[in-house]
Amino acid sequence: MKSDTRPQTARRKHIPQRTCIACRGVKAKRELVRVVSHQGEVLIDPRGKLAGRGAYLCPYRECWEAGLKGNRLEHALRTALTLENRQMLVEYGRNLPSRRDTEG
Ligand SMILES: [Zn+2]
Repeated sequence: MKSDTRPQTARRKHIPQRTCIACRGVKAKRELVRVVSHQGEVLIDPRGKLAGRGAYLCPYRECWEAGLKGNRLEHALRTALTLENRQMLVEYGRNLPSRRDTEG
């Protein structure tokens, strides 16, 4: 009879990971930018605190461009982006560094 009920002493801190909807790269949640569908609006949620369906993107211009192309983000959020929402996200992405400048 097994009584394998040791308390779960964490060997190391659990780091939540998420997948970028654009490049499919898996990263620590805090290294990605969360976009959330919150009360009918699509918002950027840097702290990851807003309630709602979220999607994650790398903080790189390329990922935002790819994620906003087509309906990938809308699909992930299961909502339709309004023109203003999309515009806001495009603007946000434009201000991000290029992946090439950041990596290698
Ligand atoms: Zn990415």
